[in-house]
Amino acid sequence: MSEVHEARRQRLREQLADRDVGAVLVTRLVNVRYLTGFSGSNATLLLTQEATVLATDGRYTTQASKQSPDIERHITADVHGDLVSRAAGASVGRLGFEPHDVTVELHNRLAKVAEGVELVPVGRAVERLRVVKDEDEIDLIRRACAVADAALADLLPTILPGRTERDVAGDLEARMRQHGADGPSFETIVASGPNSAVPHHRPTGREISAGDFLKLDFGALVEGYHSDMTRTVVVGAAADWQREVYTVVAAAQQAGVDAALVGANAGDIDAVSRDVIEAAGHGEHYTHSLGHGVGLEIHEAPALRAGGSDTLAARTPVTVEPGVYLPDRGGVRIEDLLVVREDAPEMLTLTTKELVVL
Ligand code: ZN
Ligand code: ZN
Repeated sequence: MSEVHEARRQRLREQLADRDVGAVLVTRLVNVRYLTGFSGSNATLLLTQEATVLATDGRYTTQASKQSPDIERHITADVHGDLVSRAAGASVGRLGFEPHDVTVELHNRLAKVAEGVELVPVGRAVERLRVVKDEDEIDLIRRACAVADAALADLLPTILPGRTERDVAGDLEARMRQHGADGPSFETIVASGPNSAVPHHRPTGREISAGDFLKLDFGALVEGYHSDMTRTVVVGAAADWQREVYTVVAAAQQAGVDAALVGANAGDIDAVSRDVIEAAGHGEHYTHSLGHGVGLEIHEAPALRAGGSDTLAARTPVTVEPGVYLPDRGGVRIEDLLVVREDAPEMLTLTTKELVVL
């Protein structure tokens, strides 16, 4: 993986030159991981045109040498101060920092040691690099999606009236671990009956009963990469209103998937899918955006939302997840993770989208 990380750092260096900064201090841990492979809980990276220095503390000496063998490592109790001093010593002139991560307190402290160095915000430069994935990253996300698909296939036959939402959520997470997940990629959502009308319901002790919609939104974590999927099933027998709502959401979801093409505008993709739901008279029951990027974080750029201005590029994983929520009755969301590709999207979530009645 060393060459992959070096290639990522090279892309960041090119940006530094464009922004007229001599070096950048990367403090957001997920960005340090992206650029070095190091996944410890305390780290800062200094990147100049000539040098790459990873600072962490003594707990991580071994881990850092294993995960980032190709770069200079600095063990210290002050991962920020030492690297800023180093940048000052190297006369970098302007030192970029991540303004969405550095607190006012930390900035004040850095300014004291930044002798002869001007601290310059560089925005979300690393996050922007992370939007388009390399194939190694896509492989991990594909694996995370396969784990979630397999866990759901195991789980579905065990969902019976009388089991609680919390019980089913715990079971699903355990099955993802059995299939190779390091853990869930976020807190699993299991929402039954009227609770399914709450888009981000937290599992409760409610017992599942016949006639319920059961909405499951979950994902697996594999080597730092996330997956994200939602399926909504019916327990017992499906009523006409449930079939109607499900059919609308499934059509909207497919329209969104079909529109996720290279060069497409994020706002347009949201609109194509949302139009299907609005035409069916459920516009007011769809209260969130269509989807989001996924990678080292569960929610990343690009945002597929109304009015969104991002343009989709190849090798960008995004979710497509419209929903219709009828207050006090129930709701449906269907969510797939796909990768934008040159000709047609590559689906990573493979579980059926036909209405499953348990
Ligand atoms: Zn989800
Ligand atoms: Zn999602």
